[in-house]
Amino acid sequence: MISSLKALFAVCLIAMAGAAAAEEQVVNLYSARHYASDEILYNGFTKATGIKINRVDADDAGIMARLKAEGSASPADVILLVDAARFYRGEKDGLFLPVRSKVLEEAIPANLRAKPDANGGIEWFGLSTRARVIVYAKDKVAREDVDTYEKLADPKNKGKVCIRSGSHPYNLSLFGAITEHMGEPQAETWLKGVVANMARAPKGGDTDQIKAVAAGECEIAVSNSYYLARLMRSDKPADRAVAEKVAVVFPNQNSWGTHVNIAGGAVARHAKHVDNAIRFLEYLASPEAQNYFANGNNEWPAARGVKFDNPALNTMTGGQPFKSETIHISAVGANMVKVQQMLDRAGFR
Ligand code: FE
Repeated sequence: MISSLKALFAVCLIAMAGAAAAEEQVVNLYSARHYASDEILYNGFTKATGIKINRVDADDAGIMARLKAEGSASPADVILLVDAARFYRGEKDGLFLPVRSKVLEEAIPANLRAKPDANGGIEWFGLSTRARVIVYAKDKVAREDVDTYEKLADPKNKGKVCIRSGSHPYNLSLFGAITEHMGEPQAETWLKGVVANMARAPKGGDTDQIKAVAAGECEIAVSNSYYLARLMRSDKPADRAVAEKVAVVFPNQNSWGTHVNIAGGAVARHAKHVDNAIRFLEYLASPEAQNYFANGNNEWPAARGVKFDNPALNTMTGGQPFKSETIHISAVGANMVKVQQMLDRAGFR
C-alpha cells in the first residue's frame, strides 16, 4: 500500500514537472507581421529564454476572426497586429487579456498603448511606428504645396493625387486621425477635396502609388514610410530609380504633426502561457528588438530612448527627429464608423 502510494506520488511529481516544463518552454503566437526578416527576432527570443515560439501567420482580419471562432479553446497566447484600429476593435471585442508589465509601461509611451482598465491592466502595446507620409515628383511639385495633409485637398493639386483604397486600414487610420484633429465636418470636406484631386481611381498598394508618381501617372502620393525606405534600400536598380525620382515630406510639422500608425502586440484573452506571452512582448520592447524593427522593416522604435541607425530613415528625415501626432492612437479606432460613413458620402472607394 505504502509503496504503491509512493509510486503514485512519484508519478504525480513527474507529471507536474512535465507540465511546468511545458509551460516554461512554449508561446503560441498569431502574427500579422508579414515580414520574413522577423524570423531573426523570434530566434533571438528563443535563444535568450529557451521558450519555443509556435507561429501562425495570417492577416489582421484573419487572426481576429480566428480568435473569435476559437473562443476559450484558442491556443493563442500572444498576438501581433499591424494597425491601431484593429487593436481598438480587438479590445472592444474582448480578444485580449489586460496585463501589468513595468517593463512595457516604462518603455512604451502612453499614447501608443491601450488605456489602462480600472486595475491598471493594459490590453495592447504599440511596438513600432510607421509614418503616413506624402511622396511627390521632385521635378514637378513644390514642397510647400504638399507639406500638410490639408493640401492634398487643395484645388491647386487637382488631378495629381494617387492614393490606395479609402477602406484600407492604413487610410482608415489616417482619416480617423484627421477627423480627431479637424473635427467631423471639416474632415468630410477634406475627404471630398482629396477625391476631387485624384489622378485616377484608387488601386494597388502604397508601393504602387509611389511607382505611379515615378512613372508620371500622378505627381503626389500617400504612403507608409517603410515602403519608400524599402525602395531606397532595394538591391534592384529599378526600385532605387523609382526612389530617386520622388521626394518625401512629413506632413503637418507646423501643426499637429505627422500621422503615425503602430504595429504592436497583445496577450490573448484565453492565453495558457501568460507569463511567456508577457516575456515575449517585453523582449520585443527591448533595445535589441526595437533596433531590429528600425533596421529590418524600416519602422521607428515605439520604445522611448532607443538609438537606431537606418540610412534610409535618416535620409528621409534629414537625420532629424520629425514631429509626430500626440493624440491617443485609439482615437483612430473610435472614429472608424464615422470615417466609413464619410467615405461613402464622399464617394471615396
Ligand atoms: Fe504594410
